[in-house]
Amino acid sequence: MASAVSPISDYLATLYKTLHNNTQGEIATYIPELGLADPSSFGICIATVDGQVYTAGDVDIRFTIQSMSKPFIYGYALQQHGQEKVQKKVGVEPTGESFNSIVLDELTNRPFNPMVNAGAIAVTELVEGDTPERRLTEMVDWFSRFAGRELDIDESVFRSEQATGHRNRAIAYMMLNTGMLERDPEDVLDLYFRQCSLSVDCKDMAVMAATLAAQGVNPLTRERVLAVDNVRDVLTVMSTCGMYDYAGQWAYDVGFPAKSGVSGGVIAVIPGQLGVAVYSPPLDRVGNSVRGVEACKKLSHDFSLHLFDGRTDVHSVIRREYTGAVPSKRVRSAAEREFLAKFGERLNVIEVQGALFFGSAENFLRRLTEIAQDGKTIVVDMKRVAYADRTAIELICQTARALSGRNCELIFTELSENPELERLRRALDERVCPETGFSRLDDTDIAIEQFEDAILEEAEMRRNDRIIPLDEIDIFNGLSSDDLRTLSAAVTTFQFDAGQKIINEGDDARIFFVVGRGSVSIWVNVDGRRPRRIGSVGQGGPFGEMALLDGGKRSADVIADVPVICYGFSVDGIREISVDSPTIMTTILGNLVRIMSDRLRLANDEIRALQ
Ligand code: GLU
Repeated sequence: MASAVSPISDYLATLYKTLHNNTQGEIATYIPELGLADPSSFGICIATVDGQVYTAGDVDIRFTIQSMSKPFIYGYALQQHGQEKVQKKVGVEPTGESFNSIVLDELTNRPFNPMVNAGAIAVTELVEGDTPERRLTEMVDWFSRFAGRELDIDESVFRSEQATGHRNRAIAYMMLNTGMLERDPEDVLDLYFRQCSLSVDCKDMAVMAATLAAQGVNPLTRERVLAVDNVRDVLTVMSTCGMYDYAGQWAYDVGFPAKSGVSGGVIAVIPGQLGVAVYSPPLDRVGNSVRGVEACKKLSHDFSLHLFDGRTDVHSVIRREYTGAVPSKRVRSAAEREFLAKFGERLNVIEVQGALFFGSAENFLRRLTEIAQDGKTIVVDMKRVAYADRTAIELICQTARALSGRNCELIFTELSENPELERLRRALDERVCPETGFSRLDDTDIAIEQFEDAILEEAEMRRNDRIIPLDEIDIFNGLSSDDLRTLSAAVTTFQFDAGQKIINEGDDARIFFVVGRGSVSIWVNVDGRRPRRIGSVGQGGPFGEMALLDGGKRSADVIADVPVICYGFSVDGIREISVDSPTIMTTILGNLVRIMSDRLRLANDEIRALQ
């Protein structure tokens, strides 16, 4: 539920109070049971696409879903039978007639659209199951998935509607006559009346609308209920035909897809943002809830929700750019760092964010093409990309292929954790990388590290063919050859396989290590569960060195990246030899302080560069 302090809850409370005074409209009585509703009942509910629910008023009162069921059963038909078959049964044209008109499109015999009764009855025939019971279960289950809870049917409204729904009967028999219905009309109507009699409250309806807003994924259960393409079709028909004969003015004044029902409910969908539901039984002359319409008008105006307000910003797609002047998190010797600094301009990192669709992808790819010059390595970091549509994926693939002709290298990173990017990932792995020689890596830091390693290797600064001797290790700088000899007697050499854990977070810290050959990575657990690589240590670099300072617990895991050889020094051992050769401990600690202050300076530089 909404948290205690919320401008949105406060806003809804005020909206409720203001509109409650509006007592215009009449309750529908043509279904006798609906006439029993309390005209003063009034509830407003908003559900966001990430499952936050805000409410005001009578949001727990149950009412029947009525015509608000129509978009969802249309979605069912599209998902089960495909657009082509469904389009043979029902068109997508607004009628300009009332919701229960008995007219069919003369050319095709089809009902005009699925938001009027004729169309909804034709669509209801498409519910699958070989017995009425199975079809009923199938239908109730479908709506329950949108609501995120098991729905049931209001039997008295159902019986009332079944007893009096002769106009719907006339529509169904006429469709039987024209061949649009194939099964027994009574059987189809039975299911249609039950569907209209599903018992819901405002929160159910807001969550159902929010499922459409979230491209078919229920924000509470996270279940994908409706495919993205079907959501688009449903919302299109809702926006042209959802508000009875008021659809045009509605689109003009309010500007988002909505559907109302005779029980007094209105649902509205603001794609990518919210689902809205309002319940208030008195209806205007067209058949829409008076307070429902007013509430949506106010929300649209006050929150700028009209879809054609056009506030989509394609420029914010690039979060930031930086060069190799911001180094990888690998611990490197002073000499290596100094050398690498000269090559910073050869690397560009471009961080992309948000939703990638035609406009934003075009914007980002234009920039990518600009910086993709001769000799450049470009890391495209997609960690903050929420979603990439079909068009964006295609444009990215085409651009990458075109750039493979230039003498540059592209590395796409950070696509692994987001399931929404599965299609982009596959496209890169199957269609781009093999053909272009470009690559995809999970981690931006590893990409930067590999770029640096390649430079060092080219310059032969990295010597992985040998184990670094003690006298070349920064942390032992300044020790005399006698001290080094004494030190080497206290050292133990360890070998680790790739992937082997060398240090465990939480263990007592009694040994500090120096990488003799290979490299290790440092991992911490984010939120206590997700391991995240926060840095690495290459040849000659120390790790676990805090043992020398505080002897406390290990603060991270350290894992070998490749087969690794390490020197291990027990802290007690060094203390012992320092009794006779006190310069050993003081020199090492002096070096350590210098190394740590270097790292601090580096971290400060990085923070400055990334601001
Ligand atoms: N069950 C109602 C009918 O068929 C639904 C009408 C509506 O809500 O528009 O008459």
